[in-house]
Amino acid sequence: MLVLALLVAVASAGLELFRSDAVEAQPALRSLESLGARAFGHGGWPWLPGLAGGLVVLALIASFVEMLPVAEVARRRHFARLTSAGVREALVEVKRRIEEHASGTKPSAVGVLDELLRGAVAVSASDIHLSPSAGGVCATYRVHGAIHEVAELDLAMLPLLTTRVKVLARLDIAMRGVPQDGRLVRALDGVEIEARVSTLPTESGERVVLRLVRGGVEVPDLLALGFSTEIAAGLRELLAKPQGLLFVTGPVGSGKTTTLYAAMKHVAETRGRMSTLVTLEDPIELELAFATQTQMNPRAGMTFAGTLRSVLRQDPNVLMLGEIRDRETAEIAMQAGLTGHLILTTVHGEGAAGPFARLMEMGVEPFAVASATVGCLSQRLVRVLCVACRRAAVPEPMFAERFARLGFPLPSVTFYESVGCEHCEGQGYTGRAPLGELLFVDAALRQAIHTRVGTAELDGLARAAGMKPLLSDGLERACRGETSLAEVLRVAG
Ligand SMILES: [Zn+2]
Repeated sequence: MLVLALLVAVASAGLELFRSDAVEAQPALRSLESLGARAFGHGGWPWLPGLAGGLVVLALIASFVEMLPVAEVARRRHFARLTSAGVREALVEVKRRIEEHASGTKPSAVGVLDELLRGAVAVSASDIHLSPSAGGVCATYRVHGAIHEVAELDLAMLPLLTTRVKVLARLDIAMRGVPQDGRLVRALDGVEIEARVSTLPTESGERVVLRLVRGGVEVPDLLALGFSTEIAAGLRELLAKPQGLLFVTGPVGSGKTTTLYAAMKHVAETRGRMSTLVTLEDPIELELAFATQTQMNPRAGMTFAGTLRSVLRQDPNVLMLGEIRDRETAEIAMQAGLTGHLILTTVHGEGAAGPFARLMEMGVEPFAVASATVGCLSQRLVRVLCVACRRAAVPEPMFAERFARLGFPLPSVTFYESVGCEHCEGQGYTGRAPLGELLFVDAALRQAIHTRVGTAELDGLARAAGMKPLLSDGLERACRGETSLAEVLRVAG
């Protein structure tokens, strides 16, 4: 950036020269000026020095931004490639911040790890290594292939740090003698940082490597979303269908788009290059390497319905539609789903049996809905209990009563509740996991949808055919100690 600033400064100085008397002696420059005058229809380029001056100011502002503290740099999503001197300079600041958290009477593993993550983003590190030896723990980054030392930590800090990493990655904190793998997500300064975690026992403690997902965003694998094995298997079955519509429903922030992206990735991986994958989105949330994405823009005439019609003329195999909000889009999608296209989309609806009523309210013919839909997934996100502080507890009678009333009497297993500790910053929870309810449209349901039966009845039919309700998926998670009963009732009760 500094180079750019200098270049612009030199260019503008040159222009000043150009406009001064010295120009008289340079016919080449003069002919250039008259060329400019002809092209723009007035006397010379009087606006150019002003423009150049403006650029200099902009460049200076930009280079100043680059000198802002590490946290500010981390805030920028696109990682400008720093020079090696820039990396060294940034690392001095990272080291200072880490030492601040690591020293004192009460060192903070949370603070140290956060600064390590922030610093890694700031210098575009691909990996963070915590390597213990008898002398201490060496924290290093790999930046563009080269290893840079970040800080030396006391060996006593290692167990605290590995516990913090394991809590965030949902690994077993008690198992220190075997290697473990996981995935960590941490939001810092409005940037979500994601890393693959691996631990390895050594003579001096566990060696930890965090491999950062560039930009903090990567489409997760369908399996890595965290759905139950039944739901993951069901989704794979539906995604193998040659045609039809698969709906995902759930409130705002329930992870629907992530599920759609992961589903598209799964399709891309299983069908290979023989398939054309297209998405119509509003907005595009993630750039995909395996699909053609189009941003909707109703003001410019790019509506879901109109664009969908155009896209279908190009004959894609698999389509992701951000959302179905109106009758026209729904009808085109249904038609496409009946003529050899697999369509993944979201629609508003209560539960997995909800979209049918919603589509008919829009005015879509029951016949079309019944014959084009292959399945519906309803999802919610529950918070996952912190494994470092969760506490076994006998469920309160109120919980037992509510679950029993909803048709799910509590089994006699150990349930856990949230507490809060330094590893989860007092929250009692770390990260979230999806609960799902997956409905397959079989012959009986198809017939029922066709005859416009209500949502409750469709729900009953689907359950009779084996659909596990959202609440029961949540209860199973609570039985495994992954979340609390309170949390399950909050999102699915
Ligand atoms: Zn905790």
